[in-house]
Amino acid sequence: MKKPVLRLIFLLLVTLLSAGCGGAPAPPEQRQEAQGVLRVHYIDVGQGDATFIELPNGMTMLIDAGDVGYGETVADYIRKNGHTSLDYIVATHPHADHIGGMEAVLDAIDAGDIYMPRAVAATRTYEKLLDKIAAKGLEIKTARAGVNVLAGDGLSIDMIAPNAEEYSDLNNYSAVVTVTYESVKFLFMGDAEILSENELSGDIRADVVKVGHHGSDYSSGQSFVDKVKAHYAVISVGEGNSYDHPSPDVVKRWEEAGATVYRTDLNGTVIISSGGADIEASYETGQVGSAGEASDPVPPAAETAAVWVLNTGTKKIHYPDCRFASQIKEGNRAKSGKTVAELEAEGFDACGICKPRD
Ligand SMILES: [Zn+2]
Ligand SMILES: [Zn+2]
Repeated sequence: MKKPVLRLIFLLLVTLLSAGCGGAPAPPEQRQEAQGVLRVHYIDVGQGDATFIELPNGMTMLIDAGDVGYGETVADYIRKNGHTSLDYIVATHPHADHIGGMEAVLDAIDAGDIYMPRAVAATRTYEKLLDKIAAKGLEIKTARAGVNVLAGDGLSIDMIAPNAEEYSDLNNYSAVVTVTYESVKFLFMGDAEILSENELSGDIRADVVKVGHHGSDYSSGQSFVDKVKAHYAVISVGEGNSYDHPSPDVVKRWEEAGATVYRTDLNGTVIISSGGADIEASYETGQVGSAGEASDPVPPAAETAAVWVLNTGTKKIHYPDCRFASQIKEGNRAKSGKTVAELEAEGFDACGICKPRD
């Protein structure tokens, strides 16, 4: 008896949702088909690094997996973006804030090639990761300068460090990776310090750089920053971390060299994508440079009061199909039919990516 009514409500909802979210990121099932786009996700893993890359050929890559408490977060993030396998994994160097979460990722996600530098660390975390890799029957490929991971169809993934056999500091063993798609280049520095920066040869210009060592001033030397000439610099760093990362001097150095700086402590997860010529950046929260400059287009206002999805933990308001709405932990998820203004008065903030508005 109620079926036609329910059906009408369903149709109305579908219409509303699609109308309300024109500028929000496409849901996973659409994105999987959206090949030809390189999409780099600098996942917010607190003090640590985890970068998930959707390659334009449909393959996937993970560079680091955050500290031990973040493995599940990283695996969930990958799955929620519609992927169940990783073609390439890079564990840049054996520090826990980079490899700690890797064990959980390997348990949750099918893995292809795994690259690690020839560095040894006498830590439990490192040994457990090696055990896990062996148990999964995966083979470790050596990460070092000169390794080509993938080439073809306008896409090239290369390693440009480490250049030496031995270093006194584990950070300098960091695998430094470039992903080049047509005319756009991304550079991932791991925790490489100035010593390693000075060993990089060739043209190291990059449009987007994952800043080395969480923005500490052991990295991002002036001559390196000047050579990279980045348009966007992403610092993966934990809010209120005990190392006082990032260094204000380093942030200023990248900005003065012309880069817009994103920080996962202030912006949450940052996503930078490219079709090979363009670059589009979006982020979960907060502001970067001049307001709204680098965020997704504003979605058209919904005709009728929408039902917002709320994260009661981070106090964020999302469109229901915003990618961050799908990642809210069950206990923190709520819905509300109130207006954005009413919710803001209650202490909620609009998501910086889907930009909910009445
Ligand atoms: Zn680190
Ligand atoms: Zn490190």
